[in-house]
Amino acid sequence: MTETITVIPGDGIGREVVPVAISVLDTVGDFEFEEYDAGDAVYEETGEALPAETRQAVAESDATLFGAAGETAADVILPLRSTVESFVNVRPARAYPGVDALRPETDIVFLRENTEGVYAGHEDRLSEDLSTLTRVVTDSASRRLAEFACEYVEGEGFTVAHKANVMRETDGRFREAVLDVAEERGVPTEEVLMDAFATQVCLDPAQYDVVVCPNLAGDVLSDLAAGLVGGLGLLPSANIGEERALFEPVHGTAPDIAGEGVANPVATVSSAAMCCEFLGHDEAAERVRQAVLEVLADGPRTPDLGGEATTEDVERALLDRL
Ligand code: ATP
Ligand code: MG
Repeated sequence: MTETITVIPGDGIGREVVPVAISVLDTVGDFEFEEYDAGDAVYEETGEALPAETRQAVAESDATLFGAAGETAADVILPLRSTVESFVNVRPARAYPGVDALRPETDIVFLRENTEGVYAGHEDRLSEDLSTLTRVVTDSASRRLAEFACEYVEGEGFTVAHKANVMRETDGRFREAVLDVAEERGVPTEEVLMDAFATQVCLDPAQYDVVVCPNLAGDVLSDLAAGLVGGLGLLPSANIGEERALFEPVHGTAPDIAGEGVANPVATVSSAAMCCEFLGHDEAAERVRQAVLEVLADGPRTPDLGGEATTEDVERALLDRL
């Protein structure tokens, strides 16, 4: 059965890398693609960064592949994540053979809470001198994340990163809810304070496998891990909801290289592999991952990885492998 994937290339290198992911998906599966606008370009034209028809399409499709949005990113990606009712942001940070990495032994998946924390908080300006932020943590969102983590690890354990020794009420609640669910399900867990984690993951990333974190911590720590594995051009992510999901590279629009045809498409192609898996096409996902592994090992590689290849060269190599 043909499945429809909503596609939003967006701005900057999003427009260069999303087409590569589409041709890869086209090669491994029977998908139809419906393209919609979002981001700076459509904002300049219409005054709306996220047109209603785009949001509607995302709300109605199982899977969306998103590239990047520039200045308007917050007005695009936050509403889109809530449109798919995404409760977890899955961010694998994995080093690849053949790619220079600070820590080639890194292979960590971050499961980041995706609806609350400080990003759902209310900021207030109380006086000339004082601004405050209210942080939101619920049992229900923390437990939902933990349930996903328990299933995700398939019988293995996971690490919970938090700062409950200082934020006793909010991170304390998060910690307790996550640990409770894991205990109920018989899933082994380890705890780590998020600041200690930042040091430990640099010194010895191999000790971590799946790391569950609150929203802001997950954002920062997974970017840190990106630095360990060779940069933003490699890292995919998935925003998973109960019924729908949205897949996007971790990187943004990369204005410094946009338009030059040298963006690394691997982050977006790997996001497309996660999309295949979400739609139940595990074999297609595996084929894409294998092709990425082989092309990264043997080249061609884009300049961010020290190579001289164009986006199109990498696309051709991927399609050849497939
Ligand atoms: P935005 O505000 O859209 O996030 P940014 O300036 O933060 O833009 P990023 O896209 O986050 O840019 O990229 C940060 C750096 O990493 C840039 O130097 C960019 O060129 C590089 N980079 C990011 N993604 C890629 C990619 N896919 N291929 C090559 N280089 C990339
Ligand atoms: Mg950025």
